[in-house]
Amino acid sequence: MGDAPEATHKFQAEVSQVLHLVIHSLYSHKEIFLRELVSNASDALDKLRFRALTEPGLLEGGPELEIRIVPDEAAGTLTLEDSGVGMTRDELVTHLGTIAHSGSRAFLAMLQQQGKDKDVTLIGQFGVGFYSAYLVADRVEVVSRAAGSEEAWRWESEAKDTFTVVPAERATRGTSVILHLRKEHEEFLTPWRLRELVRRYSDFVSHPIRLRGKDKDGKEEDETINRASALWQRSKSEITAEQYEELYKHLTHDAAAPLAHTHFQIEGNQQFAGLLYLPRAEDRDLFADDRKKGIRLFVKRVFIMEDCEQLLPPWLRFVRGVIDSDDLPLNVSRETLQDSAAVRAIKRQVVKKVLDLLDEVAKERPADYAEFFRAHGATIKSGLATDFEHREKIGALVRFASSHTVDHPDEGGGFTSLEAYVGRMKENQPAIYYVTGESLKAIAGSPHLEALRQRGYEVLYLTDPVDEWAVDGLREFSGKKLVSAMRAELPLEESEDDKQEREKAKGDLGPLLSAMHEILKDHVKEVRVSDRLTDSPACLVGVEAGTNPYLERVLKERGHAVPRQQRILEVNAKHPLLVKMAALHAREAASAEVIDWTETLYDQALLTEGSAIEDPQRFAKRVAELLTLAAAQKA
Ligand code: ADP
Repeated sequence: MGDAPEATHKFQAEVSQVLHLVIHSLYSHKEIFLRELVSNASDALDKLRFRALTEPGLLEGGPELEIRIVPDEAAGTLTLEDSGVGMTRDELVTHLGTIAHSGSRAFLAMLQQQGKDKDVTLIGQFGVGFYSAYLVADRVEVVSRAAGSEEAWRWESEAKDTFTVVPAERATRGTSVILHLRKEHEEFLTPWRLRELVRRYSDFVSHPIRLRGKDKDGKEEDETINRASALWQRSKSEITAEQYEELYKHLTHDAAAPLAHTHFQIEGNQQFAGLLYLPRAEDRDLFADDRKKGIRLFVKRVFIMEDCEQLLPPWLRFVRGVIDSDDLPLNVSRETLQDSAAVRAIKRQVVKKVLDLLDEVAKERPADYAEFFRAHGATIKSGLATDFEHREKIGALVRFASSHTVDHPDEGGGFTSLEAYVGRMKENQPAIYYVTGESLKAIAGSPHLEALRQRGYEVLYLTDPVDEWAVDGLREFSGKKLVSAMRAELPLEESEDDKQEREKAKGDLGPLLSAMHEILKDHVKEVRVSDRLTDSPACLVGVEAGTNPYLERVLKERGHAVPRQQRILEVNAKHPLLVKMAALHAREAASAEVIDWTETLYDQALLTEGSAIEDPQRFAKRVAELLTLAAAQKA
C-alpha cells in the first residue's frame, strides 16, 4: 500500500490508565455504558442536523436520523449504530485515542479519592464516556464514515495500550460501535433488558432509538423503544420526576439530581418551550468541560448551540437546561443573537421563570435554599448591582448572616432574608444596618456595632467580597435604607439627654481632639466624638460612599491599586482613657504621652477592623511599655 498511514497507534498514557481502571476496578452499574454510547450517538445526530443547516447536501439521499441497537446472540455482540456526523480517520485517532481536556486526569483523581466503592456513573461527566464500553466488552470496534465522505474506517482495540485504524466498508454515513461482550455480560443481549435501560436512561433522547429483533416469522424487525420526542415539548402531566432528572443528568453530566426545575411553554409573540434546572449546591464545573454548561438552545427541535449565554443574565449563570424556540430563524449564530429583540423577549421570560422558581424553593424548602444560596448566593447577589430592573425581586431572594442569626443558629441555616430582618426591626429603628468584614467572628467584635447593639438593633454581617457592592446596588428594601454601621454619618435615634451630653463632651475634649488630629493628620481627616461607641475607646469610620476597608483589602490582595481612604477617627468621650488624656493635655500641651497614646489608639482601631498597621514593631514596643507601666503601678 506504499505510503498508507500506520494502522497501529498507542493510546495516550491517561487513556490507558482510564481503560485499566474501567476494566479492573469498576464493578457496579456496568449498565451505564449503554447510556453513554446512546448519548454519543444522539450528540452525533444533533451535530449532523446542525451542520446540515448550512450544508443541506449532507442529508440528501442519506438514511433517516436514528439510533439502532442490534443484539446478536450468535456472535455475542451488541452494536450501536447511528446515522450521525461520523468520524474521519484522523478523528477516530484523536477522539478515541486521546483526551483533549483534563477529563481523564480529573476522573482518575476522583476515583482514587473514592477508595473501594468507586462510582462509575460519573464517567460521562469527565468526557471519557466512550471508554465505558469496556465495562462490558473485551474488544470494541468502531466503524465510521464521516458525513460528506466516501471513506469508512474501522477503529479497533482490546484496550491493551494500542488500537488500530484500518480502511473499512460502510454503506452510508454514521458510526457503528460493536461491543464484543464478555461472557458474563450477555444479559445485555436480551431485548427486555435493553428496552428497560433505554427507558430508564435515554427516553428523552429526541431521535428514535430502535431495537432490532425478529418478528414471528423470523424476519428482522425494528421496534422503536423510546418516545423520541423532546421531553420539554411534552405536557408536564406525562413526565415523571425520574425523567426530568435523567434529562438533567444528560445535559449536565452532573451526578447529583437537580435541586428544582421549571418547565413551561410560552405562547405569544415569541413562542418557545423551556425546561430549566437549578443545580444542587456543588457545581462540578471544576471538571466538566465548558460545553456542558449553561442553556442549550434549540430552534424548532433542532439543536443549535450549547452554553447560550445570551438567554441568561450573568447573575443567573448557574442555571442549566433547554430553550426551544419556534420563532427564531434556524441560522442564528452567537453574533446574531447578541442584538436580537426576539432573544431579549425570550430572556425576559426566562429570568421571570427562574426568579419564580427561586422564590418557590426559598419559601417552600428554606433549608435546601440556604444550602443552595451558600453555593450560588454570590452570583445572585451580583445581580443587585447589575440588574436594576429586577433589583427588588433579587432583594427578596438574597440571604445574609446577622447578629440575629449568630444568636439563633438553628433558624434558617445561618441566614436571614431582608424581609425577616424588617419584620424584627425595632419601632423607630431608622434603617437596616450592616457591617462588612472578613468573618462573622471578626465582625461580631467590631466596635462599630456597640451603639446598635445597645439599642437592640439587628445588624447584617456581610462577609462576602461581593456584598458591599450588592447592598450599594440595592440601596433600600421595603422602604428602609440599607446603611453601613462603618460609615461616617450613621443615622441613629438619640435621646435629648444623650445629645446634650455629647455636645458638652465635644466642648470639653475640643483641644485634645485638635491635638490628636495634628498628630494623625497624615492618616485621618478628622478626630471627633462618637455616638456609636459604648465600650471601646475609638474606631475608624468611612466617609460617605467610600470603599470599605474589607473591600479595600480584597482588592489589594487581587493586585488592584486602591488609594487609601482618609477616614475619621471617632473617640468615646466617656471612656476613662480619653478623659485622662484630656486632663493630661490640658496640663501639658506638648505631652509625649498624648502623642504615643494617640498613635497607639489609631493602630488599635486599625487592628480591630482587621486592617494592617504601618509599623507593627513600634506598636508592639509601645504596648509593652504601657504594660510595664501598668504592672509597675500594680506591684
Ligand atoms: P465526550 O462525548 O464527553 O466528548 P467520549 O469519550 O464519550 O467523550 O467521546 C469522545 C469523542 O468521540 C466525542 O466527543 C466525539 O467527538 C467522538 N464520538 C464518540 N462517539 C461518537 C459517535 N457515535 N459519532 C461521532 N463521534 C463520536
